[in-house]
Amino acid sequence: MAVQLKVRVFLGSGKEVLFEGIEPGKAFAGEIEGVKLSVGAESPAPVTVTPPAASDPVASIEYDLFTDIRNYHKVIIPESGRWYINATQMVSFWGMEKESAVNDFKMPLYIFTGQDLNTAMAFGVIGRNYETQFRTLEPAVPRALIVYMRRLSMRIKRGTNLYPIPSAIARANADGSVTEHFYYRRFDDGQGEPWLMTLRDFAGYQKKIFNVPDVGNVASMAPLWCSWTDWMSDDVTDEVIVHNVEEGVKLGIKNYIIDDGWFGPGLDNDLDVELNIGDWRPDPTKIKDMNQLVRDVKAAGGRPLIWCAPHAVATGADCYDERKKYFVASQDGELVETPNKFYSLCFMCAEAREIMADICSSFIEEWDFDGAKYDLFNCVPNIRCGNADHQHDCDSMMEGLDKTLKLIAERTRAIKPDYIIELKQNYGTPFLSQYGSMTRAGDTPYNTEGNFMRTAYVQGYSPFAINDYQTITDEDSPEAAACIALKMMAVGIPTYSIDLDRLNQNNKNVLAHCNKWYNDNVSAFMNHRVPLDGENNRFKLDAGDRDFYFLVNDGGPITIDRSATVLNATFSKDLFVNAPGVKTAKVTFFDCFGKQVRQETVSLDGWAHLDVLPGSMIQIEL
Ligand SMILES: [Zn+2]
Repeated sequence: MAVQLKVRVFLGSGKEVLFEGIEPGKAFAGEIEGVKLSVGAESPAPVTVTPPAASDPVASIEYDLFTDIRNYHKVIIPESGRWYINATQMVSFWGMEKESAVNDFKMPLYIFTGQDLNTAMAFGVIGRNYETQFRTLEPAVPRALIVYMRRLSMRIKRGTNLYPIPSAIARANADGSVTEHFYYRRFDDGQGEPWLMTLRDFAGYQKKIFNVPDVGNVASMAPLWCSWTDWMSDDVTDEVIVHNVEEGVKLGIKNYIIDDGWFGPGLDNDLDVELNIGDWRPDPTKIKDMNQLVRDVKAAGGRPLIWCAPHAVATGADCYDERKKYFVASQDGELVETPNKFYSLCFMCAEAREIMADICSSFIEEWDFDGAKYDLFNCVPNIRCGNADHQHDCDSMMEGLDKTLKLIAERTRAIKPDYIIELKQNYGTPFLSQYGSMTRAGDTPYNTEGNFMRTAYVQGYSPFAINDYQTITDEDSPEAAACIALKMMAVGIPTYSIDLDRLNQNNKNVLAHCNKWYNDNVSAFMNHRVPLDGENNRFKLDAGDRDFYFLVNDGGPITIDRSATVLNATFSKDLFVNAPGVKTAKVTFFDCFGKQVRQETVSLDGWAHLDVLPGSMIQIEL
């Protein structure tokens, strides 16, 4: 047995049947107790389950993949792209159980890399977002690590006990049939592709099969500043914001998020401080006049964006009593508070979704904001809402959040077509990212590598990936500051959360230079980055008449076939370049401030060694 798929079907009535002996690449058709299963031979393979009667719909489909184990380098677990960074070792994968739910929309895809560091095996299911479980079956860890079976096996269970396959899918067809696609790829060592390209391939099928567009806009691509990381929210006033806009514009930063706390206590307050989140009126002790603040930010050359968690209502909000009938409640009707002390409007309720869309539209209608950051959907507990005071028009919380974000996007884009909408990877995937204009890799303060890996994951499925808000300090040298900024640009839109008064002039000069170069080339950054190796040390970006090559972490040699700009976001002083057949190339070297250091004419017909500076740019004209 090299590889085998077993499919277990659960019906609403509780009936359960198991189909075995399915092999990737071979067509399969079977019927057990009236339940039919067909699997196509193509890749990805359509899998259709048909119940005996539409009145007994498909509740769950369990896909168990059994493979002969081999040695793997890393695993990229099915995840939103947030915590996978802590779980890339195989030994932490054995025993893994995860769930895709309203608080974390996971890409239903396992990727294993081989000894060549590229993809060796990938397994996933292509279907719409709804509640899904993931579990490692073998090796198992019952009371000791057990690997003698020499198999690596894993499960994707679509539809959970709490949230079976939603009616919108299970009852969509007259015969009750459900069709999804089984994704399986295997590479021998030395033959694989970077795992990010496998993720992109998988996402490409999600987009193609379900007709999901990549949605972004030029305004969203600009370098961004956010008030969150570098301040206690109590201290973020209109003066602080306007002053940082004035300073930030000089550094090429265009978009400015007024983060949590503009209306009262933010989530960075102690847990015993009562929140008033939910009313969405400015706290006059911080922001005297929101209309004036918006005008001042625009006059200073920035675009103002407002933070909002439209579903959140806390006990201190004036609207609490009026809204509580729309809160998520447990099956016994008890309102459910999130760990960070607020209640959530129910996404499965149409009236609640209207309230959330009205809140989001009001920021444009009342104050003329250019964009918004939507946050905290990842804090909603994964429970089945049992609040009898409101109606549900769908039966999946994930489907409900999809409907919520779709409605908010439609309403706000109807007023401002190029409205900037920042989503986060926990409510990302291609399906939700279309309701934003960029998807952020939160949260990674003072963790540049975590930020990079998280943003790279989003970049795997969306070119409109945005970094988490980087804080650059005076402890970071100018070379390090340049590496940090360029490393962000390697995978997404650069962002900053810095009290600009506290940043030294050298680091300001570095940021001004990096952001200017980025802004001058911003249209190129709307294209996908292409990783050139399995560990994401090198990326290529098509910039129209030339290519950009980003070297990060370990960097590495590059082979070019037309003029190029190399961004050395490493501390390596050695660059090896090759352009077969090119006997004379003009190479211009800059330092981390963008100052030209020297020019050379070199032959690239064979590997050339160039002395380069950390955090620098190198222009090569063929
Ligand atoms: Zn509800």
